Amino acid sequence: MIVHEQIKAMMRAENLTRTYKREQVDVHALKGVTLDIAPAEMTAIIGRSGSGKTTMMNLLAGLDRPTSGEVWFKDQAINHLSEPELLRLRQEHFGFVFQTFGLLPLLNAAENIGVPLRMRRMARTEREQRVMDALDWVGLTKRAKHRPYELSGGEQQRVAIARALVAQPDVIFADEPTGQLDTATRDKIINLLRRSVIERKVTVVIVTHDPQVMREADRVYELRDGALLDQRRNR
Ligand code: ADP
Ligand code: MG
Repeated sequence: MIVHEQIKAMMRAENLTRTYKREQVDVHALKGVTLDIAPAEMTAIIGRSGSGKTTMMNLLAGLDRPTSGEVWFKDQAINHLSEPELLRLRQEHFGFVFQTFGLLPLLNAAENIGVPLRMRRMARTEREQRVMDALDWVGLTKRAKHRPYELSGGEQQRVAIARALVAQPDVIFADEPTGQLDTATRDKIINLLRRSVIERKVTVVIVTHDPQVMREADRVYELRDGALLDQRRNR
């Protein structure tokens, strides 16, 4: 029964709590949140600053461990995995996009995109082909040899999306991916993430304040003070 339910969702957070210890005080960042991430959908996690969005994303992505509760990826409760197992899970199944792009400054666009493939020890010819395909897909073939400082913010974020997609992950996690971009650029980034879902069947989880992302998402979860305040489907 339980296993059957897990298969329908790509991911599931079940009664998650996360309490940080700060000096003598306990900070209850999440207070028992249950939510499903459906496959090949864009899910937005919204809420005010400090509501627990990043904490939730870090737990889903296996970057942090819950104080209690379970995190399911397909039929596996990942909070029981060891650190090396979690690392492998992230490398094989997850991609990441950050507000500040997170590109390596000394590597050019193509080299940055190739990093996840190097970590998987992919052979050079296959790696180069995949990188070229990813660059083409985000429309940056002509910027392949440019370093991050030679690219606009929007272009850097497109490189980051190519890097997140290049290893064909099941899930892409994006924490405020449009937070540092102007409106026109923002639309392009949202559109690329949307296309990742539609054309590549990737599951996208976005933490955001951006009203445009909230409209584009298939499903929206709203957190307040570490609890689930509201959930709605847009389509
Ligand atoms: P959001 O991403 O919605 O802004 P966070 O998940 O980053 O919220 O934070 C939720 C709450 O947990 C906040 O009160 C924040 O100050 C606290 N918090 C986050 N990370 C830590 C940490 N490493 N140590 C202590 N408190 C933390
Ligand atoms: Mg945050």
